[in-house]
Amino acid sequence: VARNRIGIFGSTGSIGVSTLDVLARHPDRFSVEVLVAHSRVEPLFEQIKRFRPAVVGLVDADRRAALEERLASLPAVHRPAVVVGQAAVDELAGEASLDTVVAAVVGTAGLGSTWKALAAGKRVLLANKESLVAAGELMLDVARRAGATLLPIDSEHNAIFQCLPADEAAVVGRGGLVSDSREIERLVLTASGGPFRERPLADFADITPEQACAHPNWSMGRKISVDSATMMNKGLEVIEAARLFGVSADRIEVLVHPESVIHSMVRFVDGSVIAELGEPDMRTPIAHALAWPERIESGVAPLDFGALAGLHFESPDPERFPALRLAFEALAAGGAMPLVLNAANEVAVGAFLERRIGFMDIPAALEAAMAHFVGDAAIGAPMSVEAVLAADDQVRDWTAAWCRSRHG
Ligand code: NDP
Ligand code: MG
Repeated sequence: VARNRIGIFGSTGSIGVSTLDVLARHPDRFSVEVLVAHSRVEPLFEQIKRFRPAVVGLVDADRRAALEERLASLPAVHRPAVVVGQAAVDELAGEASLDTVVAAVVGTAGLGSTWKALAAGKRVLLANKESLVAAGELMLDVARRAGATLLPIDSEHNAIFQCLPADEAAVVGRGGLVSDSREIERLVLTASGGPFRERPLADFADITPEQACAHPNWSMGRKISVDSATMMNKGLEVIEAARLFGVSADRIEVLVHPESVIHSMVRFVDGSVIAELGEPDMRTPIAHALAWPERIESGVAPLDFGALAGLHFESPDPERFPALRLAFEALAAGGAMPLVLNAANEVAVGAFLERRIGFMDIPAALEAAMAHFVGDAAIGAPMSVEAVLAADDQVRDWTAAWCRSRHG
């Protein structure tokens, strides 16, 4: 049988590396055709040597010479073609030489490639939640029209997907799923609560980027680590779940579960609750999505129930984590409000990581941006990718100015 041809957009990141780890275990089943990074040539070159893709994409043109120099040391038959620049790299996602695209770029920067892959009707493994939050219905629409298969890698959404009845799972990513179902009562997204679940609120202003990036259970890129610390990550995931599974905000529940063993659950009308459990390791959802509807080994150790001290649950604290409330508000408001929330968050997280604003300025920036753009007709509900990106830029500019004024 022909191997499934994979392209990884964001291969040098945390999700990209985990994906390659799973793929390396199944060389007869998958071939790595395309690897894409932004600018980090060293890890990209190591991946090229090991996986021998036909094409590599490098977004940052200034790093081209550094990559070419390294490639020159390889035998000519092992040298991939090099594509440079955001637009050209994004085009690769729609190439006929790919069966599956792993969308693992961080932020709205992933929208272009994710969109191209969906429009080309590919199987898309979605980690890049920001693009789905920003482009919403438009993105699902293009997936539907092109007959693409959209499979969630985000652990919560992958868990919910696994808990759905098989006939419903088959149409996931095409919208209207749970809302049409008379069997499903609601979705329960679990959250670890991040590193500051028990930190006194009075000390939140002193939180440093290093503290925010040290997640207790999951090892992840810096942006999503800060999102986990503010619980904006869960907010983005609430919107992601609403989009993917076609549910309204009132049918999504967030439950803090510090052990991260239950990755999410579905409540059914008869009182049954179905959960997916496992070690907190992204290779499990990645392997699931790669092989679906089959199963393959992921390298993740079996869950050791004897080693668990217990499973705990609590409600999220609205004072510590205002970002979660803002996400529910953005979802209820609809239109471009999730886009505004997401774009403001990317800018505020960047400013926090550069120590230009404090930790609690992040939710303050989101709240300010939402209040500012709520009545902005120009931003409306964007009707094309170009309009999404233009609105995204507009919110970024506004939020950057807000962050500067905050700093004084
Ligand atoms: P990382 O920061 O670790 O990696 C980001 C990757 O994207 C890198 O390969 C980076 O390249 C590349 N990249 C950055 N900008 C661009 C661009 N403009 N065009 C193309 N590639 C680009 O992020 P994560 O792996 O942690 O997260 C990726 C996505 O997955 C995010 O949307 C996140 O929310 C989601 N996610 C992550 C989880 C995790 O466990 N990490 C869990 C669930 C979801 P370079 O290395 O050259 O900078
Ligand atoms: Mg998640």
